[in-house]
Amino acid sequence: MLSRRVRLLSIVGVIGLSWGLWLAVSPNSAADKSKKTDSASKKSKADAQDKKDAAADKPESAAEDDTAPKKVVKTDAEWRKILNPLQFRVTRKKGTEIAGTGKYAHTKTDGIYRCICCGQPLFDSKTKFESGTGWPSFFQALNDKAVNYIEDNSAGEVRTEVECSRCDAHLGHVFSDGPQPTGLRYCMNSAALNLVSRKSLEKDPKAKDAKSKSPGEDKENKAKSASEKNDESPQKSTTGKSEK
Ligand SMILES: [Zn+2]
Repeated sequence: MLSRRVRLLSIVGVIGLSWGLWLAVSPNSAADKSKKTDSASKKSKADAQDKKDAAADKPESAAEDDTAPKKVVKTDAEWRKILNPLQFRVTRKKGTEIAGTGKYAHTKTDGIYRCICCGQPLFDSKTKFESGTGWPSFFQALNDKAVNYIEDNSAGEVRTEVECSRCDAHLGHVFSDGPQPTGLRYCMNSAALNLVSRKSLEKDPKAKDAKSKSPGEDKENKAKSASEKNDESPQKSTTGKSEK
């Protein structure tokens, strides 16, 4: 009998003790837990904010590059220093080279055509076609932001002038009698363009800024290293891609 009572008591005691223990421990651990989750959520919130900030930074700078190319503005005197007389007359005075005389009239060399004035990429050789006009012709511009379109009533008819969006160089006109897929014919002046290899453009991702700062330097460098890396150089051409 006695041993039974002792056993019963001890069972009750153990239960009571463990209950007491639970009371003593669990509120704390619960508090700890809530503290932890609180700080964790704070941390993740802070992380999210950081990421948000970083994300906010990126599109801003990217948007700057894409939608608002830095304008290149120079005086006529400054342009004359870096352009030859024909290039100057065509690009800065809205001139037109004589049909069939431009160096890119019939070239099929692969590459990217850049603005002769500021270096902005304007046309892809893959969109060039033989129009029979004697001027290099393309069915589309490299992208929507590369060129600006201006109504031109100067020749007794309404035409659409095409300008470089960065430096406002006159490039030529666009007509709606081109081939598919666009049906457009960008009739350009060779004198307004500079054909470079795709590789040189890929190697030089910051070329845009560098060129906009100093197109003159770029041209000089190009002339100096023409025999080394200029794809247009007929002497260098080992693949027989020479345009002439
Ligand atoms: Zn330009």
